[in-house]
Amino acid sequence: MERSFKKEVQALKLGDGDTFRGEGILAVAKALLQSGVSYVGGYQGAPVSHLLDVMVDGEDIMSELGVHLETCTNEASAAAMLGASISYPLRGAVTWKSVVGTNVAADALSNLASPGVIGGAMIILGEDYGEGASIIQERSYAYALKSSMWLLDPRPDLPTIVRCVEKGFELSEASHAPVMLELRIRACHVTGEFTAKDNKPGVYSGLNRLAGPPRFEYGRLSHPPVTFTHERLKVEERLPAAQDFIRAHKLNEIIPGELSDIGIIVMGGLTNSVLRALARLDLADLYGVSRIPIYVLNVVYPILPDEVRDFCLGKRAVLVVEEGHPDYIEQAVNVELRRADIQTRVLGKGPFPQAGEYTSDVLLTGIAAFLAQARPDGVDADAVGERARAMLAHKPKAAAALGDLPPRPPAFCTGCPERPVFSAIKLAQREIGPTHISTDIGCHSFATLPPFGLGNSILGYGMSLASAAGVGPNMKKRPIAIMGDGGFWHNGLISGVASNLFNKGDGVLIIMQNGYTSATGLQYMPSSKASRSGAPPGMDIEKTLRSLGVKWLRTVRTYSVAKMMATLKEAMRSAEHGLKVIIADGECQLARQRRVRAEDAEKLKRGKRVVRTRYGVDDEICTGDHSCIRLSGCPSLTVKPNPDPLRSDPVASVIESCVGCGLCGEVAHAAVLCPSFYRAEIIRNPNAWDRARYRVRRRVIGWLEGRAAA
Ligand code: SF4
Ligand code: SF4
Repeated sequence: MERSFKKEVQALKLGDGDTFRGEGILAVAKALLQSGVSYVGGYQGAPVSHLLDVMVDGEDIMSELGVHLETCTNEASAAAMLGASISYPLRGAVTWKSVVGTNVAADALSNLASPGVIGGAMIILGEDYGEGASIIQERSYAYALKSSMWLLDPRPDLPTIVRCVEKGFELSEASHAPVMLELRIRACHVTGEFTAKDNKPGVYSGLNRLAGPPRFEYGRLSHPPVTFTHERLKVEERLPAAQDFIRAHKLNEIIPGELSDIGIIVMGGLTNSVLRALARLDLADLYGVSRIPIYVLNVVYPILPDEVRDFCLGKRAVLVVEEGHPDYIEQAVNVELRRADIQTRVLGKGPFPQAGEYTSDVLLTGIAAFLAQARPDGVDADAVGERARAMLAHKPKAAAALGDLPPRPPAFCTGCPERPVFSAIKLAQREIGPTHISTDIGCHSFATLPPFGLGNSILGYGMSLASAAGVGPNMKKRPIAIMGDGGFWHNGLISGVASNLFNKGDGVLIIMQNGYTSATGLQYMPSSKASRSGAPPGMDIEKTLRSLGVKWLRTVRTYSVAKMMATLKEAMRSAEHGLKVIIADGECQLARQRRVRAEDAEKLKRGKRVVRTRYGVDDEICTGDHSCIRLSGCPSLTVKPNPDPLRSDPVASVIESCVGCGLCGEVAHAAVLCPSFYRAEIIRNPNAWDRARYRVRRRVIGWLEGRAAA
C-alpha cells in the first residue's frame, strides 16, 4: 500500500531478449520468476518491504505461472514455508528484514539447514546496515556461519543481482543447503537494466501439483540421531559442493588493475562505494575501471581458499573492505594465507574503523591509510593521502561555520492517531506519577524521542508485554506495555498476552490499533479492514483477547485524550489483579490521508462539496508558554513571532500541513491550557446552506467587531 507497483510489475512479463529497466527490487522479483519458483512469501521490513509489495501487485502474473504467494504474519512462518523444499523439488523464496527478522526466523532456519533441501531455497534479506538502519547493528553473516547457509552479497548492479538470484537457486540445489541473498538499501533501489529471459513455471506448482508425499525418510527430519549425520554432511559434502559450484560458475569477480602488488577484497554489496572512493582518489574511472585489482565477493560465505590465495599471491598487501563487526572475512583471509604460508599483509580493521557504516568518506580515508601502509609501486601514497585530506578538509570548517544544528529526530506523522495516546500518558503521569513503560517496534517507538521521552526498554517486535513480565512483580506501580496491532499479530499475542494470562500476570497493555503494519509501509495484517484480495480478513483484536480470557478490556478512540487519560488512570488504580488492555483505536493518518485525498480530488472533479477541517491558534489569546507543543509534538504546530509589540514570547501557530485531527484542541482541553485553539472548516464547492450560514456569521461578527470598536 505504501507504494503501488501496479505499473512497474508489467515488466515482470518481459520475455527472452527484452530489456528490463527498473529498480533492483523489481529485478529480484523478475529473477525469481525466471528461476521457476513455485512459492514465495515473507514478512515486510525495510529495505525489502517493496519486494513483498511488488509480489502482491504482481500476484496475477505469478498465478498465471502457478506461483503461490503467502504474506506471512511473521518471519518464523516465512522461514518455515521453506520446509517445502526439504522433501520436494520445489524452488521457493522468502524475504524479510535482517537481522531482526532472521532472529525471529532462527528456529525454523536451523531446522531447515540441518536436513538441507532438494529444491532451491532462498532467503532474501534486507540488510539496512549503517545510516539507513532502524535496527540493531548486527550482521546476518553469523547466521550463515552457524547454520551452514550460503550468503550472497551481490554487487549492486542489475545483471549481477539477477545472476546471483538465478545461480543462487542452482547453488542451493547443488549443495543441498539454503541460500541467503543479502540486499542493502542501495542495491534495492539502484536502477539499471538487464536482458530478460522468459518466466519459467516451477517443476511443480499450483498448475502442476505433486501427486503425493515421497517415501518416508527419517533423514529429512531435523531430529536426533540424524542431526549428527547432518552436521557431518554440512562440513564434508555440502560445503565443498558449494565451493565447487561458486568456483565453476565464477560467482565472485575480479576487477583487474595495474597496481599488481596490492589488492582489495570487498564484500560485493560495497563494490560501487569502493569504486566511487577510488574514483575520488583518481585510482579508478567513473565506469569502474580500477588501477587497484579488486576481488569482489558476490558470495561472502563460504570463502574459497584457493581464490583467496590466488588473488593474494605475490602481493605485498591486501585491503579487506568488510563493513561491521566482527571481521569474519578478514579473519578467514588471514587463516587461509597463513595455512598456505603466503606472507601478504592483510589490512582491514585498522585503516577502517571497527564499527559503523563505510560511508564514502570512511572509504576515502581508509583506502588512503591502506596505501600509506602498503606503499605500492606506481602510486604516490603520500599524494593520495593529501588528496583525501584535502577533500575532507572543508567538512569541519563547514560544520564550525554552521554551528550546532538543531537535531531533527524522526517523529510521528502530522495527525498520527498514536500521538494523542502519549499526550494522555504524559498528562496521566502528572497524577499517577511515572511508571515503567516497555515499548515496542513500530511507529509508536517515536514516543521515546522528544517531546514525549517515554519508554524504558525495547526488546523486539511484539515483545513489550513479555519484557514487562519481570518488572511488574518487582515494582510498586503497574508497568505499562505499548504494542502496535502489527506487533500484536506478529508475536505479541502469544509471547505477551498468552504468557501473561498463563502466569496470572498483572500490568497494563495499550494496543495501538491503527489498521496496518504502518512502520514498514502500510501493509495489511489480520485485523485490517481490507486485505490484498479486497475483503477484510475478519480477525478482530478485541474478540481474540476476550476469547483468551482477558476480562478488563476497553476500546478508546485515540483522539479522545480526556477519555484515554481517565481509562489509563482507572487501569493503573484498579484494585483488580490481572492484565488490563486498552485498545487505542484510530486509523493510521498516513493511510487515511492517502485515501481521503484521492476521494476529495474525485469529488472536486465532479463539482461536489468538500470540507477540510483545520485548527488554528488565536494570537491574542496564546500565552506563549508552548505547553500545547510539549504535550502534542505535532509537526504542524510551531511558533511564530508575537504580533503584539508589547509581548516578546513567540506565539504558537498551526501551519498549512495541519490535517485537522483535533489533537491540539483536545490536549488544550484535557490539560486545561489556554483556550486559544479554534477549529475552522474550509468548504470547497459550498452549497446554498453553507453560503447562507457564512453570510449570517459575517454579519454577526461584523456587528460584534463594530460594538467592540465603539
Ligand atoms: S505511518 Fe501512521 S501510525 Fe505511523 S506515524 Fe504515520 S500516521 Fe502514525
Ligand atoms: S489539529 Fe493540531 S495536532 Fe492535529 S494536525 Fe492540526 S496542528 Fe497537528
